[in-house]
Amino acid sequence: MNKPHIVILGAGYGGMMAAAKMQKMIHPNEATITLVNKHDYHYQTTWLHENAAGTLHHDRSKIDIKEVIDRNRIKLILDEVVSIKREEKRVKFKNRDLYYDILIVSLGFEPATYGIPGLSEFAYSIKDINSARLIRERVEYNFALYTNEKKSKDGRLNIVIGGGGLTGVEFAGELINHIPTICKEYDIEKNLVKVFLLEGKDCVLSGYDESAVQYAMNSLQSRGVEIINDAVVKACTEDGIIYEKAGSEYKILSKSVIWTAGTKANSIVERLNLSMDHGRVKVRNDLRSIEDDSIYLIGDCSLHYDQNGNVLPSTAQIAMQQGEFIARNINAKIKGKEMTDFLPDISGMITSLGKDDGIAEIFNRILFGWKAAVLKRFADNWYLFKLGGIQLLMKKGKFNIFH
Ligand code: FAD
Repeated sequence: MNKPHIVILGAGYGGMMAAAKMQKMIHPNEATITLVNKHDYHYQTTWLHENAAGTLHHDRSKIDIKEVIDRNRIKLILDEVVSIKREEKRVKFKNRDLYYDILIVSLGFEPATYGIPGLSEFAYSIKDINSARLIRERVEYNFALYTNEKKSKDGRLNIVIGGGGLTGVEFAGELINHIPTICKEYDIEKNLVKVFLLEGKDCVLSGYDESAVQYAMNSLQSRGVEIINDAVVKACTEDGIIYEKAGSEYKILSKSVIWTAGTKANSIVERLNLSMDHGRVKVRNDLRSIEDDSIYLIGDCSLHYDQNGNVLPSTAQIAMQQGEFIARNINAKIKGKEMTDFLPDISGMITSLGKDDGIAEIFNRILFGWKAAVLKRFADNWYLFKLGGIQLLMKKGKFNIFH
């Protein structure tokens, strides 16, 4: 291969980390590198629940890509991927086409609705900056309408979160803390507002130790979140959500249903005609797709197994590690060296339950409360440091633990 053209699609955790590392390793004489993203900013997906709840302004979660990417080394294009033509090694964008020799697909996730009627039409999802902002505005709009119309029967003050996984629990924890502020703003009595968390399994946060799950449930319930386990969502309608529990069907009236129960790869990769499982594209140990040597997939688009054969979770932690790994591997390939296999390093899980509360399982220890919240802040700040050094950390870091 002469000087190859490396195209990175998506500036999320995986794509940004890959680009940030490649610009240090690969000289412009060795390869042309292009990073393409929809917007001129990268966003902290792991902070979106705070933006959606209204506890953190969405601008705080945005990072200007130009602050991290050296444009003497990496060409930055702002455009939207429409499709990928594998046979021609061509990516079709809204405003142009690009040919690649090596393609790194890091286009992230989309909500998975599993064919449940009405979810795509009537429920909201936390997937990017604008969808998070929409949820915040939706909740506030309903509060404003309630104050003006004085109608309670239509469930305007009911907020339903579908899915008790990490995103649903983190969102519930932030939202319930913010309810008193919104109530004050819209002259509404706090006790009229109800936040429901529906989970299809018999407990929220499956995968966590039982003591951590119990702690999280107590924390949320003590602040007013109504957790309904074993609640299988059947449909979403314009005026609420229908679920089944123990053989009976129930409906919660609501104009604010937020669906957080599951993700799948960006639908662009579904059309690639590559082997998929669990809604993601299967990759080899070096993160190339099984059928196409030129296409690498990282982050939430890809499906990879750990050393024990378990599917790796869709997390920022894994996406970042894969971004760094792919930079090293492609650098090796360009320099004529052997590529290696990706070995995930999962140090643990941290889940926020609001600003000063959380749970964590890390290095075989379980942490609760403020200790987990501090750890979460540390992890957020560590990422910023890794991505953009001390400058980015000082600009965007979270240093005040309890605010
Ligand atoms: P993303 O970070 O989603 O990035 C995808 C990028 O592609 C975006 O920049 C997007 O704009 C761009 N893009 C998409 N489509 C196009 C297109 N057609 N054209 C051009 N560009 C496009 N994980 C953890 O490890 N810890 C946590 O605490 C945690 N908390 C979370 C909280 C919430 C509320 C959510 C929603 C997720 C959380 N996750 C967490 C999961 C984590 O955020 C994802 O696994 C991670 O973002 C995946 O990274 P990625 O690089 O694959 O994709």
